[in-house]
Amino acid sequence: MSAADPLLSIEELVTEFYTEKETVRAVDGVNFDIHRGETLGIVGESGSGKSVTARSIMGLVESPGSVLSESSITFDGEELTEKSESEYQNIRGAKIAMVFQDPLTSLNPVYTVGNQLKETLRLHRGLTGKAATEKAIELLEDVGIPDAARRVKEYPHQFSGGMRQRTVIALALACSPELLICDEPTTALDVTIQAQILELLDEIQEERDLAIMFITHDMGVIAEVSDRVAVMYAGEIVESAPVIDLYENPAHPYTNGLLDSIPGEEPGGGELSTIEGEVPIPNGPATHCRFEPRCPKAFEECLEVPPQLLATEEQTDDHRAACLLYPDDMSREEAVQEHRAAAVRTGGIDE
Ligand code: ADP
Ligand code: MG
Repeated sequence: MSAADPLLSIEELVTEFYTEKETVRAVDGVNFDIHRGETLGIVGESGSGKSVTARSIMGLVESPGSVLSESSITFDGEELTEKSESEYQNIRGAKIAMVFQDPLTSLNPVYTVGNQLKETLRLHRGLTGKAATEKAIELLEDVGIPDAARRVKEYPHQFSGGMRQRTVIALALACSPELLICDEPTTALDVTIQAQILELLDEIQEERDLAIMFITHDMGVIAEVSDRVAVMYAGEIVESAPVIDLYENPAHPYTNGLLDSIPGEEPGGGELSTIEGEVPIPNGPATHCRFEPRCPKAFEECLEVPPQLLATEEQTDDHRAACLLYPDDMSREEAVQEHRAAAVRTGGIDE
């Protein structure tokens, strides 16, 4: 491993659920890297596969779900998909920690905040007694909880929503993880508290060179936290780019739709525009563009060729879109041909 290698590398991640009614292909061939000190924002409407992607990385996909065997998840040079449950338990918490939308799912109401922190410190760092208490107080101070020496003895219900989420972050940091996965961590909070939590994450990241995967449906939040952004739709990444590029030059019609839906961004302050229709539930590999029914720019071939995540311009590598309109410096016929050839190479369609 060199410092230039990504900390986390996901290749062709496919996660399916087998229900009585159908197969749900919740994540369908996702690829991305996250480097140390970097925040990858993952954005998309509800049901696009963001949480299942996170749970796949954490080894938390339970029956009737499974991460398909062609998938690869490497963390710090190690293949995670081959780990046993007990090996995964050591990775969870110690190397990769997760913060969820609702802090109460991560906190136990019957134990004091301090006891929960101390239990984590005992399990993962072997700290007990006074050393553990001191470390617990220090962690609460690190996440900006005032009067930590007193509050460490309180119960979660004595904390406000923002303070609870700070406590969950303290719990996540208790094991010194290298990667923090945040799944809609501020969605339940009001905007002022949300801004404080985002600032806290930013400080923590800087201090610890932490890699962060930040999931949200909110394009405004994504703009604030991300270095790079991956836009997800119906199990696939449909666009990826450095954050500034994504906002200055959004390529995919879906990304444009999400950007138009940010409150206050619509010209003339008129009606909030949302994308009509719903996210489809994929039941197998893509055979066409899943956004086509909702796309204002759709044309005939969109129903015949599954778009691949290709460069938006032939010379670019770090801005990609899974849309037959790109690369936009090619003719439409050539671009469609590029996607068709790429889909054949990855086994998506037959020749
Ligand atoms: P997001 O986090 O982007 O809102 P999810 O990752 O939670 O979306 O879900 C993606 C898709 O996977 C949805 O269609 C959802 O219904 C399906 N899904 C998630 N968990 C399960 C499960 N345990 N069984 C069946 N389908 C599931
Ligand atoms: Mg989710």
